[in-house]
Amino acid sequence: MKFKNFPMVPRVIFGRGSFNQLNEVLAPKRLSVSAPFIFLIDDVFKNNVWLTSRIQLSYNDRIIFISSKEEPKTQQVDALVEDIILTSKENPSGIIGIGGGTLLDLAKAVSIMLTNTGSAKDYQGWDLVKNPSIYHVGIPTISGTGSEVSRTTVLTGPEKKLGINSDYTPFDQVILDSELTKDVPIDQWFYTGMDCYIHCVESLSGTYLNAFSESYGNMALGLCKEIFLDNTLSDKESQEKLMMASWHGGMSIVYSQVGVAHAMSYGLSYLLGTKHGIGNCIVFDHLEEFYPEGVKFFKQMKAKHHIELPKNICSDLSDSELDIMIKIALSLEPLWENALGKNWKKIITPAKLKHLYQKM
Ligand code: NAD
Ligand code: ZN
Repeated sequence: MKFKNFPMVPRVIFGRGSFNQLNEVLAPKRLSVSAPFIFLIDDVFKNNVWLTSRIQLSYNDRIIFISSKEEPKTQQVDALVEDIILTSKENPSGIIGIGGGTLLDLAKAVSIMLTNTGSAKDYQGWDLVKNPSIYHVGIPTISGTGSEVSRTTVLTGPEKKLGINSDYTPFDQVILDSELTKDVPIDQWFYTGMDCYIHCVESLSGTYLNAFSESYGNMALGLCKEIFLDNTLSDKESQEKLMMASWHGGMSIVYSQVGVAHAMSYGLSYLLGTKHGIGNCIVFDHLEEFYPEGVKFFKQMKAKHHIELPKNICSDLSDSELDIMIKIALSLEPLWENALGKNWKKIITPAKLKHLYQKM
């Protein structure tokens, strides 16, 4: 048995208003006047002076606003890297990602690809990255994905949707300021929050479960139930707790794995571009058979917050389109093995998956 030796985020600031310390954190990391800090920021903050006015730009530092309408692509990472190389004399001092999972993953991928040759698609997989990445900082503005703590950056490439999983992927610094999440629309709050809830359910009911993952998973699951089912929390408490739930949910899966909902949601995302949070919700809603207790609570949370999920998104798909989704979902072998055990291929067949997708 080989035990995983995985890296963790070495520095974290937690606290409401802690975003104000960003400049102070970055200053000692500046390598030279011609090695800029590059801020990759979700374009939802483009005219948001409350946020951007607190970022001090010096020398050739740049803000690049990026839309998170679509999930990160390998070509998008390559284009950003090229742009950064062409516009700065030296490799940047740091990449700072500000936004949800989309922006956090882009920041991680760009920081890796600035020091590794070729295209981001060449590194989709496990432990393919050769050189240490550039100093990178993650600042979530919506909670749930756990990308702020994870060892992966999920990218859609020409052939597959798969993360760059490596020891160089995790952030060097994270700033957890729950105030940054205060304006997240309720639907999106629910979808991304449920990503965290589903991480916990899939980790806790998986065959890869161990005491490490279980302790983090239970912690995050408890927080999710408090946030999404209790009426007693103030907005501020709820935002702080969801930020911590996201962190713990992420910690739970670094030492275990996700399961059925994630495997199937990757299929939806690859074919239809369905985003991760909502895709997980659409799938999870139909997974009573695999996660009876988890789905029961999910339905209660959905009803409590009046969330209407899209229906029949697969009803018009051709057989060949369904086959593509099934192939993508089945390619995620560790997820199935975690969910259903070593003999998962006997339980989950292409026909079974087709039947499930057709219900969605
Ligand atoms: P997201 O980053 O795509 O953002 C969702 C929406 O919320 C966007 O419209 C965005 O503009 C908006 N938004 C974000 N912060 C806001 C704020 N403070 N106020 C108002 N609007 C705000 O969503 P996400 O669910 O956080 O991330 C999904 C991505 O994360 C996917 O690409 C998925 O693959 C990835 N992911 C990565 C990991 C990992 O470990 N690396 C884990 C899970 C998911
Ligand atoms: Zn997820």
